[in-house]
Amino acid sequence: MMNLILLGPPGAGKGTQAKLLLDSTGVPQISTGDMLRAAVAAGTELGRQAKEIMATGKLVPDEVVIGLVEERLNQKDCASGFMLDGFPRTVPQAERLELVLERLGRAIDHVLLLEVEDEELVARITGRRTCGVCGAIWHTVFMPPPEGDGCSCGAKDLQQRADDNEVTVRQRLGAYHEQTAPLIGFYGTRGLVRKVRGTGKKPEEVFEAAKQALGLGR
Ligand code: AMP
Repeated sequence: MMNLILLGPPGAGKGTQAKLLLDSTGVPQISTGDMLRAAVAAGTELGRQAKEIMATGKLVPDEVVIGLVEERLNQKDCASGFMLDGFPRTVPQAERLELVLERLGRAIDHVLLLEVEDEELVARITGRRTCGVCGAIWHTVFMPPPEGDGCSCGAKDLQQRADDNEVTVRQRLGAYHEQTAPLIGFYGTRGLVRKVRGTGKKPEEVFEAAKQALGLGR
């Protein structure tokens, strides 16, 4: 049983580490960004509202994401643990999460904080490519896909997120520092923050440090 929050700026490696943790622990990844992008792709009412906000790099309203997460946490596969990736992103979201978990008789075990400097984040995000089939995350320079324009899964469907451009990234970093970084203190006072530096290391090296920090051994 592991109830985990992945915290850190956009591009810090939350999604990459979540996928490595999923492979090794089987604990499901709950990414509000992925859920919102799925709603945008499906063209639902929620997706239509979220699309414009996401394109500017601002945060969608707390109520919207809290509703998505609450519904998701009630699903069976979360019974033995969950990894929240990109949620909570504001103090009100964190407060509401505490209430939801209390009602479920659950609590957060660890908040894994991935630390990376802003300038490296911009370079990481603008070169990021995601496989449209398996979800693997690559980088044009730092982590080139093995097949050039194709993923290791064999698919040739590498995509760039609409909000992964330099202008939007700066806005997203601003939102992180103003609205999300206060969560480091929020969870720090609860003794839950496990810091891992994500700069200048390969994903597997960060993963080793993360496992140590989470008490998962080597
Ligand atoms: P991400 O995939 O986590 O980088 O999220 C992409 C975008 O989705 C963000 O820039 C926000 O516009 C929106 N978003 C994702 N998660 C949240 C959240 N917990 N609260 C508010 N907005 C979110």
